[in-house]
Amino acid sequence: MADTSADSADSADSAECRAAGSELVRFDKVTKRFGDVTVLDQLDFRVETGKHVTLIGPSGSGKTTILRLLMTLLTPEEGTIKVDGQYLTHEERDGKLVKPGERHVREVRKKIGMVFQHFNLFPNMRVLRNVMEAPVHVLGLSKDEAEERAKELVELVGLTEHLDKYPSQLSGGQQQRVAIARALAMRPQVLLLDEVTSALDPELVAGVLDVLRDIALSTDITMLVVTHEMSFARDISDAVLMFDKGKIIESGSPEKIFSEPEHDRTKEFLSTVL
Ligand code: ADP
Repeated sequence: MADTSADSADSADSAECRAAGSELVRFDKVTKRFGDVTVLDQLDFRVETGKHVTLIGPSGSGKTTILRLLMTLLTPEEGTIKVDGQYLTHEERDGKLVKPGERHVREVRKKIGMVFQHFNLFPNMRVLRNVMEAPVHVLGLSKDEAEERAKELVELVGLTEHLDKYPSQLSGGQQQRVAIARALAMRPQVLLLDEVTSALDPELVAGVLDVLRDIALSTDITMLVVTHEMSFARDISDAVLMFDKGKIIESGSPEKIFSEPEHDRTKEFLSTVL
C-alpha cells in the first residue's frame, strides 16, 4: 500500500478526525474498468490532512481516473473510497457493497474541489459572479458573505482589477486563476488539480503555478495533484506517487522519487519529462 500517512489507518474512521496527521482521502482496493480494460487495479492509497500528494506517470496510467472517482464523475467496480472518514461511493457492510444515499454523497462531495485542465468557467458571468455562484447556490451563503469571500480569493489569485470582466476578456492563465479561486470559494478540504496548466500557452504557465505554489505553501489545504510540471511537483509535494498501468509502482518524498528513483519505469518516465 502506498501510505503517505505516518498514522495508522484505524485513526481515520472518525469524521471529526481532521487534525493534521489524520487521513483525509483513502482508497481501498479500488478497481475501475472501462469495458474489458482495467484502468485502476486494486488500488490502495491514503492522503493525510494538509498534505500535498502528486500523481505522476505516463499518459493513460489512471491518474485522472482517480480524480474523477473522487468527484463522483465515475464509480469504481470494486473497492471503497473514503473522504474524511465517510464513504464516498460504496460502503462495505457484512461483506456486501451498499450504495449510500444521494444526499450523503452530496455532503461528502462538498469536501472536494477540483480545477480542470479546461477552466470550465461560466462564460456569461463576470469573474466575481463565477466565484460567488456555487457558495450562494450550493452552500447557501448570503450574497454579501459570498461576495466578500470571492473578492478575497480573487485578490489571492492576483486578479482584483479584473473582477468585472467576462472570461472571454481574460487570458487562459487568468481564466485558470479564476477557476482556482472558484474552487477555493467552496472551502473544500481537498483540492484536486488535474493538469491545470497543460492547456495553456507556455508563457502563461508560470503565473498559474506561482499562484498554486503560494496557496500550497500558505494554506493548510490538502492537495491531490496530477501534473507534468516536475519542478512544481518537487516544490509543493509531500509525497509523489508514480503510476504505471493503474498501479502505484513507486512512492516517496519528491527528493527520493526525482533524485533516486528505484523503478526502471520511473527512471524512464522521468527522463521524458525532466
Ligand atoms: P492518465 O490521467 O494517467 O493519463 P486516465 O485516467 O485519463 O489516465 O486514463 C486511463 C485509461 O482509461 C486510458 O487508457 C483511457 O483511455 C481510459 N479511459 C479514461 N476514461 C475513459 C472513458 N470514459 N471510457 C473509456 N476509457 C476511458
